[in-house]
Amino acid sequence: MAPKLIIVIPCYNEEKVLPITAPVFLNKLVDLINIGKIDEESKIMFVNDGSKDCTWEIISGLAKEDDHFCGIEQSRNRGHQNAVLAGLMEAKDLCDITISIDCDGQDDINAIDEMVDEYAKGSEIVYGVRNNRDTDTFFKRFTAQSFYKLLSSMGVETIYNHADYRLISSRALKELAKFEEVNLFLRGMVPLVGFKSTAVYYSRNERMAGESHYPLSKMLALAIDGITSLSIKPIRFITGLGLLVALFSFIGIIWAFINQMLGQTVSGWSSTICVVCFIGGIQLISLGVLGEYIGKIYLEVKHRPRYIISERTYLKDGEMKFVKKEI
Ligand code: UDP
Ligand code: MG
Repeated sequence: MAPKLIIVIPCYNEEKVLPITAPVFLNKLVDLINIGKIDEESKIMFVNDGSKDCTWEIISGLAKEDDHFCGIEQSRNRGHQNAVLAGLMEAKDLCDITISIDCDGQDDINAIDEMVDEYAKGSEIVYGVRNNRDTDTFFKRFTAQSFYKLLSSMGVETIYNHADYRLISSRALKELAKFEEVNLFLRGMVPLVGFKSTAVYYSRNERMAGESHYPLSKMLALAIDGITSLSIKPIRFITGLGLLVALFSFIGIIWAFINQMLGQTVSGWSSTICVVCFIGGIQLISLGVLGEYIGKIYLEVKHRPRYIISERTYLKDGEMKFVKKEI
């Protein structure tokens, strides 16, 4: 039997691009239903991440026009990762497989066919991996590549050039639901779920309209979150550095002592200042890294909800039943 698919699409201030990409997603879904690859009850689920423009109105309109569309709204903006998780957790009991994809048309939807094929062959997770970065600026390409390299050097297992375009079966999602962390970095968490997984390759296009929500500051924040939520290597690195500095200091003390004994002490103001600044800098960086982890613990122990759904374009009735709200 063909699997029921829900395509989960996070949207934040996307009124410009949604009217262009929604029909593209719909055509793909209908095509897949027609060739019998997926169940006819398959859906496209938009997750409105507290947009400040007309995104939710557009989503509600689409859901009214066509039963293949549905939408959930978050009570406020919580960021891309939380929006994707909200959609996946909502969908996990309603279907057999989910595919998460951005709403801006950058990711090639034709990879969906191959993802569903891979699922049919037994993979529970199928990663969409970009096979080139030609459409990126040099800066974006450089920062993104450094990001993946840094993550792997810190021991965080991620799939190179894979963002959040992936198929996850509901079986794997039920296990992902047990990962209760508040600091979300799905790219690092999903490989930890395990199960048979594979990758499909696609080329990434330019955004169809609107602007990216990932400026350098947000990319850096995501990188720091990714590392500190999944690896304790930076803390180990600090300990190692501390030991190294202590060793050098010890040698320095002996050297100073011998010089003192031999009566060769020099008036070393500049060298003293250098050492003080160096040690001071290292201490501040170390404190910052430790603080980052303590901040993470602080956020985790509060255990606040990762998403709050304030509206749905349908009423959920235990099983896969999409009833329009107005009825
Ligand atoms: N997004 C979201 N919440 C946010 C920021 C972004 O749901 O706070 C969505 C956005 O609508 C898009 C996806 O996340 O579907 C990726 O964002 P974007 O295209 O701006 O990032 P980029 O592709 O430039 O990395
Ligand atoms: Mg994008």
